[in-house]
Amino acid sequence: MPRQTLARIHLDNLRHNFRLARERAGSARAMAVVKADGYGHGIERVARALANDADHYAVACLEEAQALRQAGLTQPVLLMQGVHQASDLPLCEAKGFTVVVHHEHQLAWLEAGDARPAVWLKVNSGMNRLGFAPGEVRAVCQRLESAGVTVTGAMTHFACADDELSERSAEQTAVFDRATAPLAPINRSVANSAAHFRPGQAMFDWTRPGIMLYGSSPMLGRHGPELGLKAAMTLESRLIALRQLSPGEAVGYGETWRSTRPTVMGMVCIGYGDGYPRHAVNGTPVGIRGVRAPLIGRVSMDMLAVDLTDVDGASVGDPVELWGENISVDEVAACAGTISYELLTNVTRRVPRVEV
Ligand code: PLP
Repeated sequence: MPRQTLARIHLDNLRHNFRLARERAGSARAMAVVKADGYGHGIERVARALANDADHYAVACLEEAQALRQAGLTQPVLLMQGVHQASDLPLCEAKGFTVVVHHEHQLAWLEAGDARPAVWLKVNSGMNRLGFAPGEVRAVCQRLESAGVTVTGAMTHFACADDELSERSAEQTAVFDRATAPLAPINRSVANSAAHFRPGQAMFDWTRPGIMLYGSSPMLGRHGPELGLKAAMTLESRLIALRQLSPGEAVGYGETWRSTRPTVMGMVCIGYGDGYPRHAVNGTPVGIRGVRAPLIGRVSMDMLAVDLTDVDGASVGDPVELWGENISVDEVAACAGTISYELLTNVTRRVPRVEV
C-alpha cells in the first residue's frame, strides 16, 4: 500500500485565484508568477492549468523559463533576475524570454555582445535589493538604445506590501512613477499579490501576482479565504498508529509535550522530511474527521503526533489534512514562525503532487 502522504493540487482553485488577480488588476494585465516550481505546486502543471487565462509568465531564472517552453507553452516569459552569464543572452533572444537588467555587469554584457533579447529595467525604488537608482534610469536606457537593445518595460518591487498599515508601497510607487514616466510608452509593473488588495494602488500596465494564485494571503495576519482566495494545495497524510497515554507521559524527541489527562494520541505519516515545518508549535491544528486536532511534541523527519482525545472514532488509516481548504497554510505558517511561501516551496520531492 502506498504511503498516502500527498499534495493534492486543485487546478480549478488556481484558475479561480488567477481570475481574481486579473479582476483586481483592473485595466492592467496580470502575469502569472510561477517561479520556485510554481511555489511548490509544479511549474509545468501550474503554467498549463493557467494557459488559457494567462498570457504572460514570470520566473526567477533561465532554467524555469526553459521548463515552460519544454512544456509547450509559448507565452512571453519575464526572467525577473535576468541572466547570470553573458552566454545565456542568445538563448533568451531565441526563445523570446524578456530579460530583466538590474545591474551594471548585465548592461555591459548586452553592450559587448550581439544578442538582442527584449529587456526590462529593474528600478530600485527603495527596497535596496536589486535595480538601478531612479536617477540612473535615463542614462541606462540611453546606453541600451545606443547598443541597439530595446527596453520594453520597467519594474520595481515593494519591501513592505504585506503590511497593510505601511505607507512604503505608496512612497515606492511615487519614486518609480517619477523615474519611469519619461520612458513612455514602455510597460511598467509594480504590483505583487499584496498590492492587488491595497486600496488606491496604481497598477500601471502589468501586475505580478504570485502567492495569491496559490490561495494564500499575501498580507500578514490574514488568511486566503478572507480575501476570496481558494487553497491550491491540500497537504494530506494518514494516521498510522494510535496510543493511549496516561497523565504525565511525554511524546517524541526532547519530550517537549507531556499529557495532563488520559490522552488518545495519533501518529501521522508526515514530517519535516516531507516539508512539514519542524518548528510548528504545540497546538498547531491538523484536520481530521471534520474537526481540528492539535499537534503535540516535536515534529520528526517522517511523522508527527496529534492529540485525538476530542476526536470521535479516530482510527488508523484516517486521512489527515495538514493544510488546505480547511486548515489554511497561513495559519500553519504563523504557528511555525514563518510564511506560507516557505511552507509551500519546501514540500519535498518525496510528496507526490496529485492533480484534482
Ligand atoms: N515580483 C517579484 C520581483 C518577486 O520577487 C515576487 C516574489 O517574490 C513577485 C513578484 C510575486 O510576489 P508575491 O508572491 O508576493 O505575489
